[in-house]
Amino acid sequence: MYSHITKGKTTMDKKNILLIVLCFGVFLVEGIRVPTKKKSLATYTKKRDFTLTPEPSGKKTKKSKEPIFVMQKHDASHLHYDFRLEIDGVLVSWAIPKGPSTDPEVKHLAVMTEDHPLDYATFEGIIPKGRYGGGTVMVWDIGTYVNLKQEYGISMKQAVKNGKIEIELHGKKLQGSYALIRTKLHNDKRNWLFFKMKDNVVQKKVIKNKEKSVLTNRTMKQIAQEKTKKKSTNE
Ligand code: MN
Repeated sequence: MYSHITKGKTTMDKKNILLIVLCFGVFLVEGIRVPTKKKSLATYTKKRDFTLTPEPSGKKTKKSKEPIFVMQKHDASHLHYDFRLEIDGVLVSWAIPKGPSTDPEVKHLAVMTEDHPLDYATFEGIIPKGRYGGGTVMVWDIGTYVNLKQEYGISMKQAVKNGKIEIELHGKKLQGSYALIRTKLHNDKRNWLFFKMKDNVVQKKVIKNKEKSVLTNRTMKQIAQEKTKKKSTNE
C-alpha cells in the first residue's frame, strides 16, 4: 500500500527540502518587510488613539500604480497645509504653514513631520478637539507625481536622504515641477523649502476653486459643520 511512497522517498525528501527552503524564504522576506513599514509609522500610531480619532489607523498598505501626492489643508492650532508624497508604501510628510505658492520666486518653509499611512491621503473630516492635530482637515489637492531625479538613478528614498527632491505634480490644482530642498534654517534638519520650479507649466491661471476640497467640493467651514462620526467611512 505504501510501496509507492517508499519508492519515491528520495523525490519526496527533495520536494520537502525545497518546500522548507521556500517557506523559510517567504518568512524571511515577510519578516524583514513588515516591521520596516510598522517602524516608519510608529510615531504616527503613537501620537493617536484610534478609538477617539476618525483618522485611518493605516491598515491599507497597498501601493498605488503611480505614486500619489496629497495636499491637505488643516485648521489645527495654527492653520497650515500638509504635503505628503507616497514613498515606499507610506506618505512622507511636511507641514507647510503658508501653503503652496505657484510663483517660482516664492519659497515656503516646509517642516518634515512623521510618515503617515497611505489611506491618510483621502482623509477629510474633523479630528476631535484635544486630540493630536485636533481640527478640520480638507483634501485640498490630490494626484500623482513623477520623480524627476529618477533618470539620474536617484530614487525618492535617496532624494529624501539627499535633501533634494524634484517632482512633477499631476494634481487637480497643482501642476508642473516642484522642489523640496532641505535647508539649515534655524539649525533644524526638519526644515525644508517648498517651491515651484521654473518650467513651461507655470501656472498663470489662478487655481480654480482654491478654497474647496477636490474630493467633496466643500469649504473648510462646511467640513467643520459635518456631524462628528465615531469613525470615518473610509476606515
Ligand atoms: Mn497637519
